[in-house]
Amino acid sequence: MSFNKNNYRSHDYKFLVRRWRTVCRIAGLKIKKVAEIDGFPCFEITSRVIKEQNVLYLSAGIHGDESGSTEGLLAWAESNVDRLSSLPLLIYPCLNPWGLINNSRWDAKGIDLNRIWKNPRNPFIEYIMSRTKKINLQLVITLHEDFDGQGVYLYEPSRNGISDGRADAIISAASPFIGADPRRKIDGRKAKNGIIRPRPTNPPKDGIPEALYFYLTHKCRTFTFETASELDLSLRVQAQSAMIEHVLFSDLK
Ligand SMILES: [Zn+2]
Repeated sequence: MSFNKNNYRSHDYKFLVRRWRTVCRIAGLKIKKVAEIDGFPCFEITSRVIKEQNVLYLSAGIHGDESGSTEGLLAWAESNVDRLSSLPLLIYPCLNPWGLINNSRWDAKGIDLNRIWKNPRNPFIEYIMSRTKKINLQLVITLHEDFDGQGVYLYEPSRNGISDGRADAIISAASPFIGADPRRKIDGRKAKNGIIRPRPTNPPKDGIPEALYFYLTHKCRTFTFETASELDLSLRVQAQSAMIEHVLFSDLK
């Protein structure tokens, strides 16, 4: 698969954008610059079928030291070019270009962009908030990695404690590449078989993350995928891609 030879360039933002442009051209998706931060252009990708209904939102790279997320999203798109145009996609391939280039969780100002979704102080995030205001999102997937991770795990906000098994199936989809993170407690929250169900009433103390913002404002399903960033990049990329693939092509039929 093509990403193996690209491992050493996973923090090359220009190269990431160039590959996305190729995917968009082949798949018939639109790619558009919608903001500029610290001199870097920020892009949005949409399919032509996108209206205001049932949009699928995918984003990666809000933490720049998690390049398995940006590469995973691209790998998923690259391996599905023939069917992307039929999905109502709204994609943000990299939310923190400066961070990706500098291998940094934070942006150039030292801000964690995944904690400012109540009070955005970032033109790209402000744009995304206003862009999605009049859109009906059916699903939000945000991609991350964890330096302390020991496998794959995900966050799905608890909806009255009810589970329909989708989260377990997503973890299984990643298992040919990376197994479930065995920890019982992850980032201070209870985890089981790689699944964390945070209560929306108990957000991180240092601010509101992207996924929680959409869960609260759009009342839609949200998943946050995490792969262990110390593992081999090609496995992380394949695990991220397999999880997206599972949600979009197995679940949503
Ligand atoms: Zn992250």
